[in-house]
Amino acid sequence: MQVLGPGDLHREVLETGLCVGCGACIHLCPYFHTWQGKTAMVFSCNRQKGRCHAFCPKTEVDLDALSRLAGLGEYSGDPLGAYQQIFAARAGDAAVRGDFQDGGTVSALIGYALETGRIDAAVLTGKKGLMPEPALVTRVRDVAGYAGSGYAAAPTLAALNQGVNQGYQQMGVVGTPCQMTAVALMRENPMADENFSDPVALTIGLFCTWALDARGLMAFMEKRLPGEEIRKIRIPPPPAEILVAETRNHAVEIALDEIRDLVLQGCGLCPDMTAEWADVSVGAMEQNPGYNTLVVRTEKGRQLTADAAAAGYLEVWDLPQSGRGCLERAAAVKKRRAFGRAVETGRVNSEKIGPAVLRVNARALEKMTAGPGGAHE
Ligand SMILES: Cc1cc2nc3c(=O)[nH]c(=O)nc-3n(C[C@H](O)[C@H](O)[C@H](O)COP(=O)(O)OP(=O)(O)OC[C@H]3O[C@@H](n4cnc5c(N)ncnc54)[C@H](O)[C@@H]3O)c2cc1C
Ligand code: SF4
Ligand code: SF4
Repeated sequence: MQVLGPGDLHREVLETGLCVGCGACIHLCPYFHTWQGKTAMVFSCNRQKGRCHAFCPKTEVDLDALSRLAGLGEYSGDPLGAYQQIFAARAGDAAVRGDFQDGGTVSALIGYALETGRIDAAVLTGKKGLMPEPALVTRVRDVAGYAGSGYAAAPTLAALNQGVNQGYQQMGVVGTPCQMTAVALMRENPMADENFSDPVALTIGLFCTWALDARGLMAFMEKRLPGEEIRKIRIPPPPAEILVAETRNHAVEIALDEIRDLVLQGCGLCPDMTAEWADVSVGAMEQNPGYNTLVVRTEKGRQLTADAAAAGYLEVWDLPQSGRGCLERAAAVKKRRAFGRAVETGRVNSEKIGPAVLRVNARALEKMTAGPGGAHE
């Protein structure tokens, strides 16, 4: 991977509108800031190479390199990435209760990891109104306060960089697939730092199809539901095609078409729906509201899941084959769309280094782009 500097990051990602506000470039230096969901470079910096460019998931991502780093060899292009087990899951009785987005699997696993000393801090995302805010959490009893998803892009990884600056050495990170990609890029030690030590002991990825621009979402809701406090946002499974905004007194259905323009441009080039570089990945269970789909990928993830279930923090069941099939189809569609666009715009295996270049072997590329909507259509 070729690392460039902050000026290149500014030109390639911020100016082109591809930034997804993940927070990976924040708190590495005084120059990049995040404010109300937007990332900005507030002073210029002349460095030729920087961690900001190296960690950004919207510069260059070499899927084969990440796959090899995870001990998996060449990238397969399989819809869900590599995994060991898939479960239906929800928080067990021993977990602290919260206003979970779905089954509370994420909060239960992070709480259990803190409780058992597997991690020394958790990198989570809270909200002020609808504006997502990164948080570094060290007490088990605080974890449930961060339950729920906003569906708005969050600078979560700013809290990871803050944790590194504060000396935490075994952090657990919860984030979207692009954030898990940024963490994987950090773990490649792309700047060949001799003193590098991996500060991340656990990664919990969230499924993600797209994220909304936080400021745009706030403005939209203020217009649509003036003066009302939105307590929760839900997106029911297809074919509903709606978003449900819950206030204290009622639940309002909004057609997804009405908010389509608020989806971040960078999401259109994102091939990963299920956070393939995480230890475990968690999403809604479409057929069963109140439960999660839990994809266990690594040995660390398998051990955590088994121990959390044995300790009553988690309940798990085998996921029915129909659920697995739906998930695979949705993940394959996301890959096909993203790679279709990336091929069309010359971003796949390009000679040039540039914004959102994806590198991948020919066999996986063929697999991911075949079918409706792909580059071969
Ligand atoms: C932008 C976005 C898009 C998503 N799209 C899908 C989808 O298409 N399909 C699907 O099945 N699931 C999707 N999810 C995941 C889903 O909303 C739930 O987070 C997941 O099912 C876990 O549920 P839970 O009850 O275990 O989580 P909880 O126990 O309630 O915990 C939720 C966790 O999410 C973290 N979080 C909250 N907001 C954000 C954010 N903006 N960015 C990063 N982390 C955050 C918090 O730190 C918290 O730990 C999406 C989530 C986000 C943030
Ligand atoms: S995508 Fe993330 S790392 Fe890249 S510029 Fe935006 S906030 Fe920074
Ligand atoms: S669609 Fe991809 S780029 Fe957009 S927020 Fe989700 S994981 Fe990040």
